[in-house]
Amino acid sequence: MKGEECPICGEIMEHDSDYLDGWCKLEESDDCPNGHYSYSYYTGVTVITIGNKQLFWNYNTSFADMQRIHHLADEMIKRYKARRINDQSIPSLSPS
Ligand SMILES: [Zn+2]
Repeated sequence: MKGEECPICGEIMEHDSDYLDGWCKLEESDDCPNGHYSYSYYTGVTVITIGNKQLFWNYNTSFADMQRIHHLADEMIKRYKARRINDQSIPSLSPS
């Protein structure tokens, strides 16, 4: 199943989701085929992986903390993108 675009390289990520009783979301994930980024949700816990770093929150996380985490994720994505241009060890952008 096709998912959203990777925020690092723009490739379409692999999307997976599973529902309990057809409506209650049990798990969901998006993975960049180049391994830059992944988003996963499993029984109330969300984990975002950017390069080799992870951010996570759950249903107890306050709105203010969520905003901080999202801001941090944006910042990490920006830095990861910038670093990737100068670092050949990070998987390169495929031609598009
Ligand atoms: Zn990517």
